Amino acid sequence: MLKAPLGDDGLDGDPTAEELESGVATLLGKEAALFVPSATMGNLAAILAQTARQELVVTEASSHIYTAERGAATFTGAFYEPIAGAAGAMNLERLEQVLVEPPGRLKAALVCMETSHNNAGGTALPLEHMRQVHDLSRRHGASIHLDGARLFNAAVALRVVPAAIAACTDTVTICLSKGLSAPMGGVVAGTNAVIARARVIRKMLGGTQRQVGIAAAAGLVAINSMVARLEEDHRRASLLSGGLNAIAGLRANSPQTNIVQVDVSATGMDASLWVASLLSKGVLVRPWSRSLLRCVTHRHLSDVDVETAVQAFASVSRSAAAAARRTPSAGMQSADVG
Ligand SMILES: *Cc1c(COP(=O)(O)O)cnc(C)c1O
Repeated sequence: MLKAPLGDDGLDGDPTAEELESGVATLLGKEAALFVPSATMGNLAAILAQTARQELVVTEASSHIYTAERGAATFTGAFYEPIAGAAGAMNLERLEQVLVEPPGRLKAALVCMETSHNNAGGTALPLEHMRQVHDLSRRHGASIHLDGARLFNAAVALRVVPAAIAACTDTVTICLSKGLSAPMGGVVAGTNAVIARARVIRKMLGGTQRQVGIAAAAGLVAINSMVARLEEDHRRASLLSGGLNAIAGLRANSPQTNIVQVDVSATGMDASLWVASLLSKGVLVRPWSRSLLRCVTHRHLSDVDVETAVQAFASVSRSAAAAARRTPSAGMQSADVG
């Protein structure tokens, strides 16, 4: 980042941003790519570049684009149509229904997928499913976008090259600041024509930055040296899940990637109390719903850290059980969270 060659990305170009863009385009087998300040802006630019006002963006109901980004409809004028799914994969019959008979007779302009799927506990969509969504959408005249914020995690889990996943979509967004560890940024990739449009849109959104090579340099480290180590995060997530499932009252998913969701409903303690209790033992987790916790493994964690986390969970679980014995009806609500 200190030594990156810099230019003006809004004027005659920034050489480091250009290197990142062509590197990502090559990795994903796409003609062109565009560096954006966030994956959220990448998704927004992809939607704006491929839809018009009053058209439909069709997406799986628990996808990030639907649950966390559809406020963008107030800018795009697009209508977001959620499709029920299982493990992040849209129900294909329901998708076909919507494509054949779009609600309100709006045009279904864009179909979006997400892999690995954040809300589905980091599951990687099977390539066969992605191809089916692609073919179905194409047959009905819709473009296809992939929210691949965690695409590299999916590629590692499926043991395929990233381009094999990207081949199932017209456009794809990646996030550089999740498991890939860059401090910021995302990249959106696609055809020359669509990315040229996205570049104009990024300017309108205020996402064009002058000496952006400083940030792009970290993006280059992310794509060149962080992808190969994601496997470690996945192994540690499995280790964590195994450890947690051995603790009474906890139920964790068997992670395909680096996200472990823990169902705490059988412990008599809700997620926020679990978060506070674990925090007091130095373990950071996120509440995902009233009864679900979300843990993510990453570059800064070792096997020992995972073991420490499991011990913290076990200790909180023991105090929860003790509290339940003391006040059977009140559960853990009044227990010592220390
Ligand atoms: C994090 C995330 C995003 C947004 O990425 P930012 O770079 O934080 O804007 C989009 N989609 C998914 C699936 C994500 O996990």
